[in-house]
Amino acid sequence: MSSQTVGNGRHRVVVIGSGFGGLFGTKHLKRADVDVTLISKTSTHLFQPLLYQVATGILSVGEIAPATRLVLRKQKNAQVLLGEVTDIDLDTRTVTSRLLDKDTVTPFDSLIVATGAQQSYFGNDRFATFAPGMKTIDDALELRGRILGAFEQAELATTQEERDRLLTFVIVGAGPTGVELAGQIAELSDRTLEGTFHNIDPRDARVVLIEGAGAVLGPMGPKLGGKAERRLTNMGVEIQLNAMVIDVDALGVTVKDSDGTIRRIESACKVWSAGVQASPLGKMIAEQSDGTEVDRAGRVVVEPDLTVKGHPNVFVVGDLMSVPNVPGQAQGAIQGATYAAKQIKAGLNGQTSQERKPFKYFNKGSMATISRFSAVCQVGKLEFGGFIAWLAWLALHLYYLVGYRSRIITVIQWFVTFLGRTRGQMAATEQWVFARLALEAISTGDDEDAEQLAAALGAATNSRAAVDKAGTNVKAG
Ligand SMILES: Cc1cc2nc3c(=O)[nH]c(=O)nc-3n(C[C@H](O)[C@H](O)[C@H](O)COP(=O)(O)OP(=O)(O)OC[C@H]3O[C@@H](n4cnc5c(N)ncnc54)[C@H](O)[C@@H]3O)c2cc1C
Repeated sequence: MSSQTVGNGRHRVVVIGSGFGGLFGTKHLKRADVDVTLISKTSTHLFQPLLYQVATGILSVGEIAPATRLVLRKQKNAQVLLGEVTDIDLDTRTVTSRLLDKDTVTPFDSLIVATGAQQSYFGNDRFATFAPGMKTIDDALELRGRILGAFEQAELATTQEERDRLLTFVIVGAGPTGVELAGQIAELSDRTLEGTFHNIDPRDARVVLIEGAGAVLGPMGPKLGGKAERRLTNMGVEIQLNAMVIDVDALGVTVKDSDGTIRRIESACKVWSAGVQASPLGKMIAEQSDGTEVDRAGRVVVEPDLTVKGHPNVFVVGDLMSVPNVPGQAQGAIQGATYAAKQIKAGLNGQTSQERKPFKYFNKGSMATISRFSAVCQVGKLEFGGFIAWLAWLALHLYYLVGYRSRIITVIQWFVTFLGRTRGQMAATEQWVFARLALEAISTGDDEDAEQLAAALGAATNSRAAVDKAGTNVKAG
C-alpha cells in the first residue's frame, strides 16, 4: 500500500483503544499530515502496571488514569471519541462505536487496533463473580473495597471460623500482578492496619498465593523467581505451587494439587490474576482478512509489518497482536504502535507496503516489585533483585506515568507509604464492591446472575446459611 487519501480530506487514521498502544500510536502521529480519531470505551489512559497500588490504597485513580482528552489537548490533529467499538468493516473501512444507545460510524484510511486483553477464567467465567480480575479501574476499586471490607467484617465476626475466612486472602496466579498484590496485601495488614482494630490483629491475615505452574514469576526464570518467592515467604505470604484452582464460590476456593488431592481454602476475598484473553475485536478483524488467524488467547497472528493479510492499512498492536518473542507488556504495545504510526507516515510519503521493513522488538527487560524496597529486574542477561532493583522499578514507572502532575503526586504518595506506615487512599464504598454484579444482573435479566449476586451479598453477611438461603430464595422466586 502507499497511503491514499479518500475523498478530499486528509488521510484519516482511526486508533482504537487508549492504552499504551492507542496513546503512543496517536502521539506519534502528532506532526503527520493526517486526522486522527482515537476511539476508546474508557475515557482515560490507564497505566495498568500500577493498578495494584490503587487496589491496596497507595494511589488514587487520578494518578494512574489521566483523561485521554486532556493528555491529547495539544495535539490539534487528534480527536477523542468515547464509545465501545462494536463493529469494524474492513471492506467499507468503517468503525462503529456505541456510547449508551448511540451508534457512531467513523470512516478510516488507516486503522490501528490496540484494544488489549481482558482477564481469562479459562472457560469458568462464573469465577469472576467471586474473584474479580485486575484489568480496569473498576476492578481495582472493587478489590480495594473487598480487601478493606474483609478486615472491617472480621472486626465484627462472632466466631473464629468467620474471622479466619475473612482474614484469608487468596490470589490466583503468581505472575507479576499476583506477586505484587500478595506483597502489598501482606504489607497492608502488617504495617498500615496494624494497631487500628480492637477485636482483631490485622497481622493475623493469611495471604495465599496459588500458582498452577511450578514457579513464581515463571517467565523471569528460576533465579529471579526464587528471589521473589523467598522474599514473599519471609513476609508471611503462603505460596502454593503446582496447585490448580478448580472452583471458586462466595466463601472460598477449591484447589487440586498435582498429586490429585482436592482441598478447600475458606476465603472471603479472592483475586484472579491467572490468564488473559485478547479483545474479541481481534477475531472480528482476522475473520475479514485474507487468512490471518488468531492464537489460543484470541491474539491476532499479524504479518511482519503488524498488519492483517490483504489489508496493509490495518495494524494490530499491543496485547492484541501475536508476534513471536514479544511479551504482552507495555513495551510491546508502545513499540508496536510507534512502528505502525511510522509506516502510516512513510505511506504518505509514497512508501509501498512491500517496501516496509518488518517490525523489530527491542527487549528492554522486565521487572516486578515485591514489597517496599524490594523488586526483581531483568535487563538482557543481567538479573538482579533487592533495593537497587526497587529503585530502578520506581524510576521507570515514574518515567512512563503520563503527566507531571501525576508524577509529583505519585512521588508524594510513595513517600508517605514506603517511608511511613500510612496510605493515602484508603476510602472504599459498598457500591464499589457490588455495583459490577448488580449491573450484570440487571443487564442480562438472568436468574443465574441474580442468584450469584444474591449469593455474593450473602457472603458479605458472611454466613454459609445466608449464601444458601439467598440462592434458594432466588430459585424459588
Ligand atoms: C495489573 C497489570 C499489571 C501489569 N504490569 C506490567 C508491568 O509491570 N510492566 C509491563 O510492561 N506491562 C505490565 N502489564 C501489561 C501492560 O499493561 C499491557 O501489556 C499494556 O497495557 C498493553 O497495551 P495495549 O494498548 O495493547 O492494551 P491496553 O493498555 O489494555 O489498552 C486497551 C484499550 O482498549 C480499549 N478497548 C478495549 N476494547 C475496546 C472496544 N471494544 N472499543 C473501544 N475501546 C476498547 C480499553 O478501554 C483500553 O483503553 C500489566 C498489566 C496488568 C493488567
